[in-house]
Amino acid sequence: MTSPVWHPFFQHGLDEPIPPVASARGALLHLTDGRSLIDGISSWWVTTHGHCEPRIAAAIARQAATLDQLIFAGYTHAPAEEVARGLIDIAPRFDGQPRLAHVFYSDSGSTAVEVALKMALGYWHNIGQPQRHRILVMQHSYHGDTIGAMSVGERGVYNAAWTPLLFDVGTVPFPAPGSEQACLDALEAACAERPAAFIVEPLILGAGGMLVYPANLLREMAAICRRHGVLFIADEVMTGWGRTGTLFACEQAGVVPDIMPVAKGITGGALPLAATLASAPIFEAHRSTDRARLFYHSSSYTANAIACAAAAANLAIWREDDVLARIAGLSDAIAERMARLSGHPAFANPRQLGAIAAIDLRTDDAGYLSDLAPRLRAWFMERGLLLRPLGNTIYIMPPYCIGATQLDAIFAALHDAGEIFGPHA
Ligand SMILES: *Cc1c(COP(=O)(O)O)cnc(C)c1O
Repeated sequence: MTSPVWHPFFQHGLDEPIPPVASARGALLHLTDGRSLIDGISSWWVTTHGHCEPRIAAAIARQAATLDQLIFAGYTHAPAEEVARGLIDIAPRFDGQPRLAHVFYSDSGSTAVEVALKMALGYWHNIGQPQRHRILVMQHSYHGDTIGAMSVGERGVYNAAWTPLLFDVGTVPFPAPGSEQACLDALEAACAERPAAFIVEPLILGAGGMLVYPANLLREMAAICRRHGVLFIADEVMTGWGRTGTLFACEQAGVVPDIMPVAKGITGGALPLAATLASAPIFEAHRSTDRARLFYHSSSYTANAIACAAAAANLAIWREDDVLARIAGLSDAIAERMARLSGHPAFANPRQLGAIAAIDLRTDDAGYLSDLAPRLRAWFMERGLLLRPLGNTIYIMPPYCIGATQLDAIFAALHDAGEIFGPHA
């Protein structure tokens, strides 16, 4: 019997297997047929501490039996208040002072980005400069799959059908080694034309291929925006919650954005929730006695109480456990293994930022539509690993609880993948 389920980012015409997963614990997924997979990519970058973290699971169960869902337009509940205060406490600060002072809830990274864009244009509109509506973006960026989020992301085969719906943006080149100054110059020139905002993935472009750039460039970019009064939006949806070695990537550059979307690991990966943090001026531009200036955005499940309880439990884990120390240990363990793999002739461009590592498989067949990635994916699955290469880029982004032997299994498979799928194979 064929399933009516239509899977995301999945070509149903290729008859690839769709393994049913029965349960998960820590870094392991257990399939219904008895096999297990090591979750090498945190189930699409969301699972931070590990699957079914007991403290988060318990908080969800408690909240589900207490208050499940509440209209959030003008009502509130303790978990939402607690998480908002918790986010402000841990968000990047300027001279020790919180600059991000307001928290707007939504349900996914994409909606958190939509909210960020709407806040930026709402700000300029409400302070009487509606002509400032252009958004600047970085080449190769990814900010989500809704129309606005796609508009500020890289264009390609994955959004070609919707090009007519996407709004025009200004694009600065990715600061690859050698073109750092070109990137900064392009940003400077674009900022001089008084756009609304610049949105950027701090330090690492995820879906664009795990492309890293140094913190000093992020700092420069933020300074250019500040100088020109252009709102600086740091999309921490993927980089947040310790992935890059610090709680938020912006900390490494000493940068405090005007608007900061967070999602993915906000509940430890247990439930969908997102938040867009905003500075006081953004909020104040919408606060008024005039109803026309309120922030017109909501979804039915805004600040769902169960999801907020999961986020509150996640924040408590960050307070109680030394998560950053765990991540530092994991980063070292990954670095050691990456160093050994880097010498392999099948690979190029090894890179690592915190607990994220990526390497490119040398191949003539590197396009987005090449069948290399799905072949690798299937092969890794046979080896008991959930890995999902981006084209010829193989990356890992494991949950922080992953063990040394599990990491060894991943790196042994990477090595063998080089032998089997690399050049002259
Ligand atoms: C995943 C991601 C998004 C979109 O988040 P969803 O929860 O998948 O909608 C936005 N920005 C970045 C940088 C991401 O990695």
